Amino acid sequence: MPACRACGSRAGWLVLDLGAQPPCDLFPPAGEPGPDPVFPLRMWLCGECALAQLVEDPGTREEPAGVEPRALTEQAADAVRRLREAGLVRPGATVAEYGSPHGGSWLGLLRAEGMRDAEPGAQADLVVDGFGLMHEARQREAMAARASRVAPGGALVMQYHSLASILAQRQWNALRHGHFAYYSTPAAIALAASAGLHPGRSWTFPLYGGTVLLELRPEPGTGPDPATTALLRAEEAAGVRRAGAFAPLAREVAEGTARLKTRLEAFAAAGKRVTGYGAASRAVVLLQAAGIGTGLLPEIVDISRAKQGRRMPGSAIPVSGPGALRERKPDAVLLFVPDLADEVREAFPELAEPACEWLLG
Ligand SMILES: [Zn+2]
Repeated sequence: MPACRACGSRAGWLVLDLGAQPPCDLFPPAGEPGPDPVFPLRMWLCGECALAQLVEDPGTREEPAGVEPRALTEQAADAVRRLREAGLVRPGATVAEYGSPHGGSWLGLLRAEGMRDAEPGAQADLVVDGFGLMHEARQREAMAARASRVAPGGALVMQYHSLASILAQRQWNALRHGHFAYYSTPAAIALAASAGLHPGRSWTFPLYGGTVLLELRPEPGTGPDPATTALLRAEEAAGVRRAGAFAPLAREVAEGTARLKTRLEAFAAAGKRVTGYGAASRAVVLLQAAGIGTGLLPEIVDISRAKQGRRMPGSAIPVSGPGALRERKPDAVLLFVPDLADEVREAFPELAEPACEWLLG
C-alpha cells in the first residue's frame, strides 16, 4: 500500500476506486484518434493523520488554463474582505501567494488593499494558499515550504474544498489526477502541525458546496477559536476519519452515472440533441465512468480557447466554442460545472427553459 503523502504511515484504507482514467488535463487535438493513456484513479484515507489522498501520480502536468467561474472570483473577494476584518489583510503588510495552477490568484485583490509583495523566497506577514497545496504530490514537504515563508507574528491561510462537503454531497468526481489531497479540517491541522503551525480562526464559504479557509500560525496563541473547534467536531462527527463514511461516494458513482446515461439515452431515442457545457476535469471522469461518447453527447462547449478544437481525454467528444451553442440550439444543455449555472444561463437567454432543458452533470 502507499505511504501517506503527509505522515508516511502505511496504515489506511482504499476508500474510492474510479478505475482506469485518462489524465484530466490532457486535451488531445480533435483529429488525434488515441487511445489515450489511462491510469488508475483511487483515493486512500490515511489511518494515522486522516489525510484523504490520491494514490497514483500519472506525472502529467499539461493544462490549458481554465476560465475562472464568476463564483470563484466572487468568493476570492469575499475571503479577502473577511481577512481584512480579521486584521490579516492590512496596508503595508507583506504577502506571498502559493496559487493554484488553475488560476484564481488573490494578489490583485491584496495589492488593492495596500499589501506589498514579499521578495521572492522571503518571509511574508501573510502567506496565502488558495487551492495550491492540493496539487503537491509531497504534502509534508510542501507544507513545510509554506510554513518557512511565514514571518514571526504572521500567518498562513490555507483554503481547501472541504472533504466533509465531498462526503455530504457525494461529490465523488472531486477525485482526479493531479489533485493529491482532499482535506478535512482535522487532516489539514495535522499536516500543519508537522510544519510547526497551529490553527486559529477559520471561515467557510459555499464555493464547490463547501470551502474552508483556515488560519495557521507559528505561535500557538490561544488555540483554535470556537468556530474552528465547532468545525472540527462537526467534521469528526461526519466521519472524515472513518472509511465507512466514504461508502456512499462509491454508491453514488454507480447510481449517478447510470442516472445520467439513462437520461441521455432518452434524449437520443427521442431524436433530441444534448450539448455539454464546461470541458472540465470532472466531466472527463464522469463521461469515462458513465461510458458516454459522441453517440449520446456529440459536443461539449467551453469558453476556454485553449480547449477549443481539441477533444475530451478518453473519448472522441470534440470541444467547441460557445458559438456552437447558439448555432445548433440544442434541446438540452448538460452543465458539468454547477458553479457556472447562473452565468451560463444569463449568457444564453435564447436557451431558456422550456425551449431548452438544463441538466446538471
Ligand atoms: Zn498520514
